[in-house]
Amino acid sequence: MFIKYNDGWIEVITGPMFAGKTAEIIKRAESLIYANKNFLVFKPNADTRWEKEFISSRNGKKIESITIENIEDSLKYINKKTKAVIFDEIQFFDGNVIDTLQKIAFDRIRVIVAGLDMDFLMRPFKPMPEILSISEFVTKLTAICFKCGKAASFSKRIQGSKSKTIEIGDNSYEARCRKCFKI
Ligand SMILES: [Zn+2]
Repeated sequence: MFIKYNDGWIEVITGPMFAGKTAEIIKRAESLIYANKNFLVFKPNADTRWEKEFISSRNGKKIESITIENIEDSLKYINKKTKAVIFDEIQFFDGNVIDTLQKIAFDRIRVIVAGLDMDFLMRPFKPMPEILSISEFVTKLTAICFKCGKAASFSKRIQGSKSKTIEIGDNSYEARCRKCFKI
């Protein structure tokens, strides 16, 4: 049976590092371009991995983005033509993430959110647990375990400080399966 959805919902792309979350966002953004839908892409200021005005996947594709610190600043860019709003690296935004996502979705705009579900100690990474609860659709991606080559759902820190929750920079982390996480 084909069920049609009303406009305005929240869809989530989550999983560990190296799972292709940004590539999945870019794929969805490309569909919006083909469908001629107006959309906005936001990334947090803390994400200093790539050029400022783009989100880039590891396979080299990129989409224009707007860098903001506080998620509520995204509301200033949304207008009547906006059909979708995309947030990458949601765990690094300041402000009230849940209320802002809800507001946008209730305004009948499609919200696409990507981010980590756990930190490097396998702890749920706020605000992703709450976002998963309030969203209509969830895609949980896996990476390839750096140790055994099987599906990996966890990000393990292999170097760096123990005080920060997550560090920017891919060299400090590996994707690991549950079995290899403990090694
Ligand atoms: Zn493994």
